[in-house]
Amino acid sequence: MPAQLLTGTPVVEQLHARIRSILQNLPLDAPRPTLALLVPRDPSAQAYARAIRKQFSNLLLEVRAFALEDQLEESDFLRLLKQLDSDTSVTGILALQPLPPRISRSTLSEAMPPAKDVDGVSYEQQGRLALGTPTIAPSTPLGGMLLLRHYGITVTGRHAVVIGRSPIVGRPLALLLLMADATVTICHTRTLDLARFTRQADLLFAAAGRPGLVTADMVKPGAVVVDFGVSVIDGRLVGDVDPAVAEVASALTPVPGGTGPVTTAVLACNLLRLAGLWPEEQLF
Ligand code: NAD
Repeated sequence: MPAQLLTGTPVVEQLHARIRSILQNLPLDAPRPTLALLVPRDPSAQAYARAIRKQFSNLLLEVRAFALEDQLEESDFLRLLKQLDSDTSVTGILALQPLPPRISRSTLSEAMPPAKDVDGVSYEQQGRLALGTPTIAPSTPLGGMLLLRHYGITVTGRHAVVIGRSPIVGRPLALLLLMADATVTICHTRTLDLARFTRQADLLFAAAGRPGLVTADMVKPGAVVVDFGVSVIDGRLVGDVDPAVAEVASALTPVPGGTGPVTTAVLACNLLRLAGLWPEEQLF
């Protein structure tokens, strides 16, 4: 029997309903939670920025966009973060990737003010997550966890295999899975014989950005497969998981329409958390 498709839409609808009900209870004259969105020139970042603006404006959340030009110097980037940190009308800050050439991921982690870190990139938030006491988690992996929860998929005690160890997807996902009591294996480019590990997975997560990396013979029959990969091939969005995996897995997230839309909805939830409007227990 082909795999159940774990689409993101019902998860997004549920999160949006929660956000709307929280915002409806705010006094009319209360300021709206506001996201400062730092957008590099890269076309994928520009497309993601448009999606965020559209979703946030539907939710009546404010977005203020700032262009990050390719030639941006580190000192100017640091000045912008400082200015946004001291601006009391800004609730959260998100710098889209890939960052301009002179700005490294470690500069961003060092300089992002933790209290406005809407996507958990700061050293403080990453460190808290590593110790199992996060207050904010990166939106993409947290979205994956909420997707599993929505579809009633058990994580506790199961063997989760994560392909990818980047600071924004694979690594924080592995930590969230550990917090949810999975037994976790992390695979990466230097892993020898990837299939040996993926075939042992009850829950398999692909976050490599390599189209078709996970083929049907690499998946244990009945496994749940979550695809975070997004690549553009001949103008089409494709994931890391070969569509034939649907014949082997019990459940699979589609690309597009799986983890992607949930990411943006979780960002909005994170913004409400930073504004002190989202109850602690609702996300973790
Ligand atoms: P990245 O390039 O920073 O990291 C990729 C990771 O995958 C690395 O840790 C690398 O070791 C591993 N990897 C690459 N090729 C591999 C291989 N052949 N075998 C084993 N491991 C391999 O990328 P990223 O920023 O983590 O993004 C990963 C993917 O997720 C991309 O396709 C990106 O577009 C996508 N993404 C999706 C969302 C979403 O909302 N669904 C959000 C962010 C990123």
